[in-house]
Amino acid sequence: MKIKQCKRCLYTSSHPLGLTFDKNGICSGCRIHEEKNTLNWNERWDKLIKIVKKYKSQSNSNYDCIVPVTGANDSYYILHLVKNKLKLNPLLVTYNKYFNTPLGIRNLANLRIKFDCDILIQNVNPKSVKKITRETFRRFGNIYWHCLAGQSVFPVQVAVSHKIPLIIWGAHQGLEQVGMFSHTHEVEMTRRYRKDHDLMGFEADDLISIFNNLSEEDIWQYRYPNDFELNEVGVRGIYLGNYVRWDPKAQHEEMIKKFNFKTSSFNRTFDCYDFVDCYNYMDIHDLLKLYKHGYSKVADHATREIRFGRLTREKGIALVNNYQFKKTNFENLFANWLGIPEEALEFMKNQFRNKLYWNEYELGAWKFKNTQYKKKNSGKIKLEGEENFICTDSLSLDKDQKYITIGKGYP
Ligand SMILES: [Zn+2]
Repeated sequence: MKIKQCKRCLYTSSHPLGLTFDKNGICSGCRIHEEKNTLNWNERWDKLIKIVKKYKSQSNSNYDCIVPVTGANDSYYILHLVKNKLKLNPLLVTYNKYFNTPLGIRNLANLRIKFDCDILIQNVNPKSVKKITRETFRRFGNIYWHCLAGQSVFPVQVAVSHKIPLIIWGAHQGLEQVGMFSHTHEVEMTRRYRKDHDLMGFEADDLISIFNNLSEEDIWQYRYPNDFELNEVGVRGIYLGNYVRWDPKAQHEEMIKKFNFKTSSFNRTFDCYDFVDCYNYMDIHDLLKLYKHGYSKVADHATREIRFGRLTREKGIALVNNYQFKKTNFENLFANWLGIPEEALEFMKNQFRNKLYWNEYELGAWKFKNTQYKKKNSGKIKLEGEENFICTDSLSLDKDQKYITIGKGYP
């Protein structure tokens, strides 16, 4: 099957979330992005106010909503909207992914202080987390399943157990990246989307098999509440991106100024704002994405910036070609954590090189087929200054490079 490329952005028909193209060769993600400049966002904000109004606690003796947060991504901005603009009293929830950077721990502590909120942190038994990670890595080359599963289910479990029906998320990934929905669909959180896209089709119970040593006690924490439990509380998850013109770069820069959100440079992309709380996301997880899907996070970032008109397509391609083969920095940390030798990690990673994108020209030596981004002219383009991202710190701050299992916060 021939891979089709969008004429505007850097996405192709092989995007794992699925894309469609119109007769002009523009992808659905780009078309839905155009709505950001055509919708009446004041009207949409008013709509949001109406939706959340009925969830305000009348007795002031419970929280108004749940906000899932981390020490990175859009957490600061989401909370800024929920607490300062919508005037809600949220309960923050966070799933401890154990790949924590000092910077992420610091950002999360600063978030709690600046916004003065209560927080629940889920620390699943690390032995089970490692068993699950070994299994998802071995089976589908994914080391992030437990993070995605935990982050997406813990807020829902808390909604049920604490009887707080409303969960407020940031942007919807399927809408933002590939235009799976229009903003006007006002799509909400579903078990189905979580299973199909966040979890690659595998819910917790699907992980247990006769070929591994996972058992009930390892996976039950990742189980989605059943329909009866959800309906009894009336659990509902909404996405702010449907009601606010979502622009991660501009939002992060506002948060740096207003609330001292800290950022970090990365080896494999130019965006300094995303996932600064994790040693693996922009590192080994991103390299595996290149092995499996033929593109990496820098292509997502470049695509987003092209759509906002801050980057030309040519410069985007040059950025991708510049970053996507850059070395990872922290694979040794992951091998140590998982308890395997680095050679074994290397072997396992190579199992997931997709033949569509990689050619093994001799045993253990691979060449990228580069079917996605033609190098044409990109060597001539100067990249200095194109990125324009504010980098305030580094992942490790001034401490040792190692995962922080439980972070105390910062003084
Ligand atoms: Zn496109």
